[in-house]
Amino acid sequence: MMRINQERLQSEIDELAAFSDAEPPAVTRIVFTATDLKARAWMKTRCEEAGLAVRQDAIGNTFARWTGSEPSAPAVGTGSHIDAIPNAGKYDGVVGVLGGLEAIRALRATGFRPRHSIELLIFTSEEPTRFGIGCLGSRLLSGILTAEAARKLTDKDGATVEEVRRSVGLDGELEQVKILPDYYKAFVELHIEQGPMLEREQVPLGIVERIAAPASLRVTVEGAGGHAGGVLMPDRRDALCAAAELVLALEHAAQTSGAVDTVATVGICDVFPSAVNSIPAKVTLSVDIRDTNVLRRDAVILALEAACRATSAKRRVEVQCQLLNADAPAESAPAVVAALRQACEIHGFVSIPMTSRAYHDSLFISRIAPMSMLFIPCLHGFSHRPDEYASPTDISRGALVLAEALAKLSE
Ligand SMILES: [Zn+2]
Repeated sequence: MMRINQERLQSEIDELAAFSDAEPPAVTRIVFTATDLKARAWMKTRCEEAGLAVRQDAIGNTFARWTGSEPSAPAVGTGSHIDAIPNAGKYDGVVGVLGGLEAIRALRATGFRPRHSIELLIFTSEEPTRFGIGCLGSRLLSGILTAEAARKLTDKDGATVEEVRRSVGLDGELEQVKILPDYYKAFVELHIEQGPMLEREQVPLGIVERIAAPASLRVTVEGAGGHAGGVLMPDRRDALCAAAELVLALEHAAQTSGAVDTVATVGICDVFPSAVNSIPAKVTLSVDIRDTNVLRRDAVILALEAACRATSAKRRVEVQCQLLNADAPAESAPAVVAALRQACEIHGFVSIPMTSRAYHDSLFISRIAPMSMLFIPCLHGFSHRPDEYASPTDISRGALVLAEALAKLSE
């Protein structure tokens, strides 16, 4: 009978949370800071103590392997991230890493011997805090981000990824990070939901069937500035009024896409010169559009671009619409979903199929491996804040189901 050591798992979550640049209960752990390096070293020791062989790649993705009876067969992977945005909580990512480690320990304790190796993976920099791009490690692993493009990324002090990783002792070339498509037989990421669905439905587990993906755009509107009293209305080319039309056109496009999965947000509206008695001359909008269906998501992008052209002509303003990034959504692999469902059934746990509305490293791993995710509830859906909370019972239930699924997939 498989057993998760709930006390050990919880105390390790608490221990890892102590590696933080913020006062508890807040956790701040930015990639490759001294604090993050200490947390990584601590994690490595935990993995080695569990009998796993640990290696790091050139970007610091950490692999801890339990070698199977067929060492050259593709591995079954699990894992998540331990970096945390400023003033975050202690469960995001960590549950998938320490829960994954505990799942492996639980499996070993039963005397189980996997045919395919089982590997815990700790991704580097899932959070975009330092280098402005999320999922740096998994993007490189999957080849979605090239080594060349990664080298150009810098932090706010102007230090490049290349300089920073070398300075923390990561050798080798970024080209070597990409793994072959047959490296993994399957990949499962355990994670807190970061939304309210499971709590609302009072279901302990969610099996992720698809992951929504964002596109981000920058829209720049240039009109003409002037004195708020001196320039009469017929003569104006107000950039903010034009931008307002674009914001509403975007909202309308998302609302009428035909699916609730379509969401669009203008999170930043930067007005120049931003003075009370000055007509806005230039406005920059930061746009985030997400969907589980890439065609539907891209249709919203096209609608926004059409609105930009129409507004530009109507209001005699210059509008530029720049696509900064567009990741494709992912579908989970039926075999991995089935393994998770079966694992729930073994223990009589109720689960529901879910859509992941936040994206995760698994979005990128889906390009190279059959993937799914297992969600556990978190209090009120709170995440990325100090009062983020998942109960020890929910966490160990997730780890138990993960262990069963890893066993099934590694047979
Ligand atoms: Zn996360």
